Amino acid sequence: MTPDEFREYGKQVVDWIADYLTNVESLPVRAQVAPGDVRRALPEHPPEHGEGFAEILADLDRIVLPGITHWQHPSFFAYYPSNTSGPAILGDLLSSGLGVQGMLWATSPACTELETVVVDWLAELLGLPAHFRTDDAGGGVIQDSASSASLLAIVAALHRSSGGTIAQAGLTGRHTLYVSSETHSSLAKGARVAGVGAENVRIVDVDPKTLAMDPVALDRMLAEDIAAGAVPVLVCATVGTTSTAAVDPVRAVGEVCRRHGVWLHVDAAYAGVAAVCPELRSLHDGVAEYADSYATNPHKWLLTNFDCTVMWVADRTPLLGALAIHPEFLRNAATSTGAVVDYRDWQISLGRRFRALKLWTVLRWYGAEGLRAHIRTGLAQAAKLAAWVAEDPDFELHEPQTLGLVCFRPRWPGRKPEEADAATLRLMETLNDSGALYLTHTKIAGRVVLRMALGGTRTEQRHVEAGWRAIRDAAST
Ligand code: PLP
Repeated sequence: MTPDEFREYGKQVVDWIADYLTNVESLPVRAQVAPGDVRRALPEHPPEHGEGFAEILADLDRIVLPGITHWQHPSFFAYYPSNTSGPAILGDLLSSGLGVQGMLWATSPACTELETVVVDWLAELLGLPAHFRTDDAGGGVIQDSASSASLLAIVAALHRSSGGTIAQAGLTGRHTLYVSSETHSSLAKGARVAGVGAENVRIVDVDPKTLAMDPVALDRMLAEDIAAGAVPVLVCATVGTTSTAAVDPVRAVGEVCRRHGVWLHVDAAYAGVAAVCPELRSLHDGVAEYADSYATNPHKWLLTNFDCTVMWVADRTPLLGALAIHPEFLRNAATSTGAVVDYRDWQISLGRRFRALKLWTVLRWYGAEGLRAHIRTGLAQAAKLAAWVAEDPDFELHEPQTLGLVCFRPRWPGRKPEEADAATLRLMETLNDSGALYLTHTKIAGRVVLRMALGGTRTEQRHVEAGWRAIRDAAST
């Protein structure tokens, strides 16, 4: 493709995206295809001869688009939002255009130094402690996902708890991790990948009302495990759990960790970015004093398209001790001075995209006040929806309702719990099949509840109202 062809088709692609985002509201939210439909519509063999870009775009419309679930639809209320925004898309496009591999400072100094600046900026915006800054003992780094951040926290914690021997000698003895029933499954996956083993992931009780980890139960479990010869490695506290946005008491959990010498990882994948609003800084209570690592996802609720998880460590020594490896082919003068950051030592893979560009374009385009306005819009929509649910005698609201997530279920009077749960799931499928909105479910105390997550870039109050109306109408028929 010549530069002129690129310019021509590039403009078409940008127009295509702009039209898509303008019109996405008119499309069914959830893809309306059956398994195999998209695959069958695609040729079985790759083309022998190159094709025109117009034909590729036509197939995008004809084959790909019908098989897309529209995460950017204003009535996408499923999972947690996966925000995009104009500046983020353009930042990502610039990253693709530059095609940089930022594995070492030397392979593109601006890729590294811009990342250092934007993660330090974000730490400041979220009220995170000064020691998370790269010019202090710790530092931040952009990972692809919160799951990778959790795995890296486990790896760094294993390094520290073994006194640095694990990298060479491997795991010996029983190492344990501590989560709650509400912790994201990525911790269990991380335990498998790191070789800790799923059996050694210990499930700490939660408060039955708030679903937050019980620090007293954690303390007891740690003491018992230590007495039985286990080596506790890491506790994961969550700020904004996946099911209900519950917030673990980081300070109290951190005090327990400190007493037992265990690494505290704070998974704030969804909720951490909300702390751009000063009134939500209490979400981070205890992080400054106790967190060894912390991760939040601008790619969920902060207008930055996937993938962009920012992970900070209070002390970078264990992370680098676990991961830094210096093969001959990567040796270079800048690294040997020790004066530069080489982010390949802060992640699993060697190669890395220039993700900082999209976070930089977002932070600069919106400014702190624009980011706060976005979070506050989602919070206000959720509060309004929660109030409607609470006022409706046919529905039960899960309380405490937290941040941008509202969990609720129809009461289905006269039905047994299993029948009511089945009816709630059927209701959700009917709504999702309609294409008008997209919801997911979870279980609280064994009962099915619907989750409606607000905070989409394009979600307005009218979409929340229409969604709630659709749910009530479907439940009453
Ligand atoms: N942690 C929490 C609390 C989450 O809610 C999620 C996803 O929703 C994750 C981790 C996983 O995030 P990622 O997709 O970035 O790995």
